[in-house]
Order: sequence, then structure tokens, then C-alpha cells
Amino acid sequence: MINNMNHIDQLKNILKTEGLRHTKQRQQVWDEIRISSDHRDAEEIYIAINKNKDLKVSRATVYRTIDVLVKNNLVRKMELGDGRALYEHKIDDGHHDHIICVETGKIIEFYNEDLEILQENIVKKHGYELVRHVHQLFVKPIKK
Ligand SMILES: [Zn+2]
Repeated sequence: MINNMNHIDQLKNILKTEGLRHTKQRQQVWDEIRISSDHRDAEEIYIAINKNKDLKVSRATVYRTIDVLVKNNLVRKMELGDGRALYEHKIDDGHHDHIICVETGKIIEFYNEDLEILQENIVKKHGYELVRHVHQLFVKPIKK
């Protein structure tokens, strides 16, 4: 549904449901996240938006717009469990899970069919069906 709309209408639609105006600044926030495949925190996104650009976007607008994008399923929020959160867009996005290096911060996306089936079977045994899941593996490099 989202994929059939252009990137301006995508944002206009969700801002409308939130009772917010479509502005160049808010569009800038969505565009910055949309064109990148990185996993970044809100501050990194804020810095990227304001780097070498004529149009400045306030920190409050960046943070607020990200929250709206998350709430409306355009952006995925990844809680790291230590108070930090990273964001990535969810366009054309098959499901994937994350391996996160606690030493370097590197993030690897992975998908494992066996793991997906295993998770479904585990919840089924408990009398449930799986709605969604978050799978984050925290790792560190193997010392040689
Ligand atoms: Zn990811």
C-alpha cells in the first residue's frame, strides 16, 4: 500500500492522520531516512539532515517527525536495551532481524527461515499464534 505512493504522499497521508501540516522540514526528515539503508539514532539523523543544507531543521522537529514515522509504520525503531534506539525505513522491506556488535556498533541484517519457523512453533505450543517479533543478537568479535 505504502509502496504505490510517492514519497511526498506517503508523508502527507500520515501527517494528516496525526493532525500535522506537511512542511519542507518534515519532508526532509522522511527523505533523509528513506534514502539511507543505515541504522542510525535520532541525533545522527538530525546531524545528517542539517549537514551542508540550506534548509535547517530543528532537533525538536526531527525527533517529533521520527516518532510520527515510527507510529505510522514507515520507520522501524530498534531499541538497543541501553536506552539508545536506532531507526531504519521500512520500505520494500521483507522481515529481517539484527546482529549488533557491542564493541563496534556494526549492525548486520539477517533472515533465517529455520529460526522463523522455530519461533512460530514455540508460541503455538503455548497456544498462541505469532503476531510479530523482534530478534536482536548482541555480539562481539571473536579474538584471534
Ligand atoms: Zn535493519
